[in-house]
Amino acid sequence: MLENLTGRLQGVIKNLRGQARLTEENIADAMREVRMALLEADVALPVVKDFIAAVKLRAQGKEVLQSLTPGQAVIEVVNDELTSLMGKANEGLNLAAVPPAIILMAGLQGSGKTTTSAKLAKLLKEQKKKVLLASADVYRPAAIEQLKTLAKQLEIECFDSNASQAPLDIATATLDFAKRGYYDVVIFDTAGRLGIDEAMMAEIKALHAFLNPIETLFVVDAMQGQDAINTAKAFGDTLPLTGVVLTKLDGDSRGGAALSVRHVTGKPIKYIGVSEKVDGLEPFYPDRMASRILG
Ligand code: GDP
Repeated sequence: MLENLTGRLQGVIKNLRGQARLTEENIADAMREVRMALLEADVALPVVKDFIAAVKLRAQGKEVLQSLTPGQAVIEVVNDELTSLMGKANEGLNLAAVPPAIILMAGLQGSGKTTTSAKLAKLLKEQKKKVLLASADVYRPAAIEQLKTLAKQLEIECFDSNASQAPLDIATATLDFAKRGYYDVVIFDTAGRLGIDEAMMAEIKALHAFLNPIETLFVVDAMQGQDAINTAKAFGDTLPLTGVVLTKLDGDSRGGAALSVRHVTGKPIKYIGVSEKVDGLEPFYPDRMASRILG
């Protein structure tokens, strides 16, 4: 993933490293290259603008210009700003609720919600949590069955809902079941549509109001590029999201979503999906991602 972006940025880095002295012109040239590389990687324009302005400001400062290795100092500034663009440090799940802590999964159809619900359940089970999976995805044929199958494979309990039930009824019954069974965490999967529509938003808002989740995670496919960001923004305007899960980073994503989503929505990326398999979910570390991007 992100090979193109890394390749282009490495070209800039190589040039900068070779400079014993930096002038404003050198810096401006380098920034032009970085800007192009980010735009080609599908990073949202306002994000690119803010990023370049921040790097330029620091690169023209005394600390860099008077450094013995100014080229290297600029590279460090770029690394630093890339990291803070994605959120500085890893932000984990907040499960500090009167049990059961509820995690509501939101996102469009095909984004990877169901798979991510199972992956997350697996991670939490490994942390010795008693986890209940549940699905109110009553529109996509076989979505509920898909979650049940994954749960079975992971030996995790899945609430027995079916597609003829209303989502709010499923939520009510799930909560009741979880309380009676002393579950620590409930991961509640919801219906996505192909695009954003009012009915979907109204439904998930009602589920949110009823379940009062401590975490509302927005699941988004990194391969969607700029669209991923627009969708994230629309969901974020409707629901009080607490975090984002960026899926399919193992695919040929150009990187734009990873770099833009935090800046555009103000919400941290908490996890990334790195394979189709049930163990393909990792906590997201902005600094590691920045280093990976810079190669
Ligand atoms: P939903 O409609 O949002 O519930 O989406 P699904 O969970 O059914 O996922 C849609 C497709 O994306 C499935 O084929 C998943 O296997 C695949 N998928 C989900 N997450 C990832 C990921 O991180 N990497 C890859 N390569 N595929 C993924």
